[in-house]
Amino acid sequence: MPTTPVVELENLKVKLGRREILHGITCRLGVSGTGKAVGLLGPNGAGKSTLILALLGFHRPSAGRARILGMDCRRSMGEARSRIGYMPENDSFVGEMTAVTFLRQMAELSGLPPKAALEKAHEVLFHVGLGESRYRELRTYSYGMKQMAKLAQAIVHGPELVVLDEPTNGLDPAARRRMLKLVADMKEEQGMNVIVCSHLLRDIEQVCDEAVIMKDGAIVHQCNLEEERRSNRSFVELEVTGDDRNLLTALPEIGAEGVAEGGGRWRIVLPPGVEVEAIWGLAARQNLLVRKLTHRRDTLEEIFLKAMGHLAHTPGEDSPVDAGRT
Ligand code: ADP
Ligand code: MG
Repeated sequence: MPTTPVVELENLKVKLGRREILHGITCRLGVSGTGKAVGLLGPNGAGKSTLILALLGFHRPSAGRARILGMDCRRSMGEARSRIGYMPENDSFVGEMTAVTFLRQMAELSGLPPKAALEKAHEVLFHVGLGESRYRELRTYSYGMKQMAKLAQAIVHGPELVVLDEPTNGLDPAARRRMLKLVADMKEEQGMNVIVCSHLLRDIEQVCDEAVIMKDGAIVHQCNLEEERRSNRSFVELEVTGDDRNLLTALPEIGAEGVAEGGGRWRIVLPPGVEVEAIWGLAARQNLLVRKLTHRRDTLEEIFLKAMGHLAHTPGEDSPVDAGRT
């Protein structure tokens, strides 16, 4: 039985004021069933939040169509409330409310009866690690706790789809890992579908099964990360000392290909089934001393940089991917 795509856009245009922000987007996302995450990746200002707000019925399209879970976004999205959870990019709390009251109200607004709403509020606050602080007023929460409370209100009513706008923005590394783990559990253990908007490549890489890359109000690339992962190609960044002039012609010995970047630095692609140990053997046979070897299984960075028109370079662990950076 064919499943309904999570998102279906047909020439979707959105104007804010007199400016057109989304310029006729057409795509189908989340066609592969439940328990999957779709990533919207793009630099700040690309139009990710605008697209999300249009999908949730907050911005009316100026042309084209948008469907979410098969529902037309031009219609009243009232019925969508129980089926969709939304974590906005900015805080939208009443600071004087305790977390538990806030969550209970959000659950009721999404259609749960009062008793179930209260039970779920407690349960979800424990689930996101705010159990001990659940009777505190939200204004006393730290930034990281507020992000978790925002996530909690998005999932409190047990929606089938959760839309997260920049969920890890501003989090320290430990909180960021916790957030991404919660997102992964939502899809893997609870079978929810997730849409994650982020300007951080690593977020999308870690939790998403497919991704679209947005730039200037358009989609510049769509890729299936699940397939990429299955194909199991891996990327190695290598730095060697010694005469590496013969390395390029030696790489096919292990089925690999690569480019020299000068100063003993190489970027190498390993085919499926070839482990990174093969590089050590090859380097030894070439009398090269390995100074540094980093290994990644993903390709989104390459795809992203190409889509953005950047030359390949090596951003650090959490590099944002703003188009404007140098
Ligand atoms: P992203 O979420 O990818 O960072 P946004 O969707 O927030 O991007 O913004 C896309 C563009 O739309 C930006 O140029 C932004 O300035 C503009 N924009 C966003 N919201 C509004 C608004 N309410 N009115 C006018 N322009 C807006
Ligand atoms: Mg945004």
